[in-house]
Amino acid sequence: MRICRFDDNQLGIVVGEEVCDVSGLLDMLPTTRWPVPLGDSLIVHLPQVIEAANKLLPHASRKPLDSVKLQAPVPNPTKVLAAPVNYKAHAEEAKRDPGIHQNTHNLEITGFDAPVDKFGLFLKANSSVVGPAEGVALHFPGRRNDHEVEVVVVIGTRCKNIPRDRAYDVIAGYTMGLDMTVRGGEDRSFRKSADSYAVLGPWLTTVDEIANPEDIPFSLTVNSKLRQSSNTKFLTAGIPHLIALATSCYTLYPGDLIYTGTPEGVGPVEPGDVMHIESAVLGSMDVKARIT
Ligand code: MN
Repeated sequence: MRICRFDDNQLGIVVGEEVCDVSGLLDMLPTTRWPVPLGDSLIVHLPQVIEAANKLLPHASRKPLDSVKLQAPVPNPTKVLAAPVNYKAHAEEAKRDPGIHQNTHNLEITGFDAPVDKFGLFLKANSSVVGPAEGVALHFPGRRNDHEVEVVVVIGTRCKNIPRDRAYDVIAGYTMGLDMTVRGGEDRSFRKSADSYAVLGPWLTTVDEIANPEDIPFSLTVNSKLRQSSNTKFLTAGIPHLIALATSCYTLYPGDLIYTGTPEGVGPVEPGDVMHIESAVLGSMDVKARIT
């Protein structure tokens, strides 16, 4: 199932080139009171929501996909995790270009299976998450604000200490993401956490629709010029590796996001630029960069 959030917090199911409005299902989610339980409420209740959505779909009103404003499909992750230098060709371009990694670690990883085993994962502020319709508000004019297109894992269940061979059991689905990054000397969590620097969309594709998560193609163009094109089969640390590493440290909650890393071709965007992200498996979206 392809689940989206659109317009004014409407819940939709994407079927072909249309969005079926199933917002009535949001009444299934509990109203909460303080302290709010951790986890994105929709993802916590996803199995029940999907079951009810299947019954509602034939009767739902429909809108053309290109007529709605797509919001982030998972608005309330407790954590936005991300993998650094997780494609070999991106690691090589980062070594060549000090503008990418001027303040970060020595990229030498002798003795480690993958860069994440040396560097770990990093966190982006969960308040930085937006959908494609909102676009990216460039916060550091005059500096290099780079696009990093990535496949994003959406965790489906509360979990800790998950071994690699059980990692796929804890995933609800996948979506595309942009790990926007201003290059410079500040800590990575600062440079990657400005409002709107974690784009998520176009929708959540549930695991049953993904034939092979280790073979998801994706690309990014800026103003129609190809910048990045790769496939999750080229990940250095694969998805089970990332989940095992993450859950060795953190309890993950439903809706937590893991940005799996960006391939080669990262580069700057300027106000007015349109980033087009496309995946034959996860869908496509346009994301406009603008001034704050
Ligand atoms: Mn990244």
